[in-house]
Formats: sequence, C-alpha cells, structure tokens
Amino acid sequence: MWITVKKDADLSDVQASLTELGVWTQSLKQSGGPGRSLAILPHSAAVSPERLLSIAGIDQLFAPESRRPKVDAQSGQVLKEEGWTLGEAPILMAGPCGVESEEQIHQAAEMVAKAGATFLRGGAFKPRSSPYSFCGFGQDALVWLREAADHHGLKVVTELLSEQNVDQVAKDTDLIQIGSRNMQNFALLKAAGKTGVPVLLKRGMAATVEEWMLAGEHLLAAGSRHVVFCERGIQNYDQPFRNLLDLSAVALLKHVHKQLVVVDPSHGAGRKDLILPLSKAALAVGADGLLVEAHPAPGQARSDGPQALQQDDLNHLGALFEQSEKRAPTLCLKD
Ligand code: PEP
Ligand code: MN
Repeated sequence: MWITVKKDADLSDVQASLTELGVWTQSLKQSGGPGRSLAILPHSAAVSPERLLSIAGIDQLFAPESRRPKVDAQSGQVLKEEGWTLGEAPILMAGPCGVESEEQIHQAAEMVAKAGATFLRGGAFKPRSSPYSFCGFGQDALVWLREAADHHGLKVVTELLSEQNVDQVAKDTDLIQIGSRNMQNFALLKAAGKTGVPVLLKRGMAATVEEWMLAGEHLLAAGSRHVVFCERGIQNYDQPFRNLLDLSAVALLKHVHKQLVVVDPSHGAGRKDLILPLSKAALAVGADGLLVEAHPAPGQARSDGPQALQQDDLNHLGALFEQSEKRAPTLCLKD
C-alpha cells in the first residue's frame, strides 16, 4: 500500500505517527520515487484505511494492483475434498521416493497407514539428475500406487512430470505434485491447472517466494481448484544438508499470506536423522502438513534411501500429529 502526503505536511512527522501504530514505511524518494509518497512495508501491523486517513498529513491511500489475485483469493481458505481436509488439523503424507514394484508400494502403504498418515506418496514418473538413474515405472506404477492407497484407506499424491501424462496422473491422483525442477515450467502448470485437481506446488530450488506464488497463480489461472505450497529446501552451500529448509518462507506464506503450506523435510535435509526435529519445527511454524519419504527397506531403495524413514521413526512422526491436532493458533504480528 502507498500513502501520499499532503503538500504542507512534514514527511517525517507522518512517518513518526505511523511508526507509533506499528506501520513501517519507506519514503519513495529513496527508491527513486517522487518523495511525497510512502510505501508501507509488508511486515507492518494491519491498520484500517480509516485509521490511516485520520492521521494529520496523510492525503490518500493507494493499493497497487495484485499480480496474483487468485492466490490472494485463496487466503485463509481451508481445502475440503472428499475424505480429506487441509488447513484444519495438520496431516501426514508419506511414502517412498519412487514406486519401485507392486509389492514395495503395498508394503509402504501398510507402514504409512499404521503411522496414521492421510496420504501415500510415491513417484511413478521420476525426475533424475542423471538420465541413467531409475526414472520410474510410469503408468504401471500409477495403477499400483492407487490400488495400494485404496487398499489402506489412503489418498494419493504423485508427481506430474510431463504434459503428455496429465490425464493419467489426474485420474489416479487426489493431489497433483509439481516438482521443484518444474515450478516454472509454465506449459506443465497450465496442463495441471486445466484438470482442476488440487496441486501441491513444490518450491523451485532457487526460487524466491514471490516467484513461487506467481507459479501458483499460473495454476489457478488455468483452473486448479486450490494450490498448496510445499517448501522442500533451497539450494545451499553447506555439505551436511542436501538443501536448506526455509522455515521463514513457511511462516511468511502461512501467517502473512495465509496460504496452505506443506513442508518436505526429507528433501530439505537429505538424511533421516534430522527428519523428526525438522518436522517438529515445521509444525511449530504452522505447516498444514508434512510430506515425508518412507521405505520398507531403505537400503534397497532405487532413489533417496538415505532420507527414507522406516516404521519406528514413521510412528514417532505420526504421534506428532496426534499432539498437534489441538494446537493453539501460532501467534504472529497480524493476528
Ligand atoms: C520428490 O518428491 O520425490 C522430489 C523429486 O522432490 P523435489 O521436486 O522436491 O526434488
Ligand atoms: Mn525423493
């Protein structure tokens, strides 16, 4: 929001009155503007337009047009689908990185259901850095995934990798996953959006929060019923972690933009020993769900074995959700 200041008013007096209300501003002169206007900084307290206009020296208020009106319109909404809800009590989504066989995904579904998860995850189409790595069993894997999930009363989240497979994936999936590598693949976003199916949009590994939300706008503009944002870590320079899990971005999306946010600590950390503490942190920050990798035999996994949980750890994780069901709303500036 911008404020214009009356010609005879002192800019610093107006700024001081605003600061007293918790409204932090920057003179637009500093950013090359006319110098009689102030921009309200995003972390300011929410103060009504009437109250702002009552301050001596303030002339008018301008709200710049949003570049992502459909994402803004999702603000504060709960996603209610048949058999699952996102945005009330947090939910667990778990399963292997890739669907490796019919037997493997059935075993995974059993362990995931035992831990109290709502969703079974598993890639049928796998994006891999090397073309010689396991790239998934495609359509066959989609069928195995759906059957295993149905058998154990679970919902399905799986990655859509190509526009060619959009109809198959949309048919067998409750939540379409768009992977980090494809966050700005606009043709893929359009194809996924057209199906109407809700989308779990992973953050690009080098994307800003604004780029991520604009990618969400592409999905909604094309017809997605809802976009759920998934933080999975951004690229970093420190060896012990695969990525840097950005919980600040989760807090921002959740508490300032009031979007639905899921956290994937598995790809964030890349190692199983940090999944539990990072999951606790994600829930504390306000995540609506966790997306976690789990495998019946991580040593034999064809991808991401080192970050896959087994039954015991997954049960510990599941227990966190029982506790967080009645969690108090997290306090933040604007609440
Ligand atoms: C995955 O979830 O298996 C995956 C490939 O994730 P990301 O797109 O976050 O790398
Ligand atoms: Mn993986």
